[in-house]
Amino acid sequence: MKLLDGKIAIITGASRGIGTGIAQVFAEQGANVAFTYSSSEAPALALEKELNALGVKAKAYKSNAASFEESEKLVAQVLEDFGGIDILVNNAGITKDNLLMRMSEDDFDKVIEINLKSVFNMTKAVQRTMLKQRKGSIINMSSVVGVKGNAGQTNYAASKAGMIGFTKSVALELGSRNIRCNAIAPGFIETEMTEKLDEKTVQGWRDGIPLKRGGTPKDIANACLFFASDLSDYVTGQVLNVDGGMLT
Ligand code: NAP
Repeated sequence: MKLLDGKIAIITGASRGIGTGIAQVFAEQGANVAFTYSSSEAPALALEKELNALGVKAKAYKSNAASFEESEKLVAQVLEDFGGIDILVNNAGITKDNLLMRMSEDDFDKVIEINLKSVFNMTKAVQRTMLKQRKGSIINMSSVVGVKGNAGQTNYAASKAGMIGFTKSVALELGSRNIRCNAIAPGFIETEMTEKLDEKTVQGWRDGIPLKRGGTPKDIANACLFFASDLSDYVTGQVLNVDGGMLT
């Protein structure tokens, strides 16, 4: 018996990085996986093929998580294709870093829309299904930066801190219906998002990690697996730091 046998999951932004890692771990544990991308079609289709080969149902959908309308359509389509939704992982996210002095209004708005408004869009869209089922697990991908702040990332930190407030509020609102909502705060994880940083910044991050290494998408996916599975049936409204001890 696998931990997610027969469960149906939606993961936003799984065409690369952490999202791909989550999709792989969920499928290995028996989940059927619907996942989205915004522009990386080729890797998304390759992942769809890889997951189907594991014997589960998997499908990639092009959908902009920042759009309320597209999120509603996506969820309706997933319900038609898969017949239910047990797990939602709000993982899609971007950075547009700059010092506040130089940050444009557009760069602030885009990061808030894609990282935070998307969480509202998707959670609202799956809510009715989970309420009817009287069961569901929602996992929001926050960040260490949302907990402690970071110079040069006011937009990103605000979006990730906002996700934590959203997570705790959803946990309080939907707990009586057996819908759980938790957040993960990854530290420094080696993906395309962090590849953009210069070596000096990366070394600075690494130096501050007690475990002395950057994290992998699988490190985050394993924490997600805990929140997605019945192993965490009595856990809601929590933020789990998966950061090699960075916030200790
Ligand atoms: P990544 O490698 O840049 O991947 C981002 C994913 O999000 C891609 O699949 C991308 O799809 C998708 N995406 C971007 N905009 C989207 C939109 N509007 N609608 C739907 N999908 C969209 O990032 P990552 O490092 O894996 O990060 C994943 C999540 O973890 C993010 O929320 C990030 O903030 C968070 N996080 C990352 C780290 C880290 O150190 N890497 C640390 C803390 C938190 P396309 O390829 O199609 O654009």
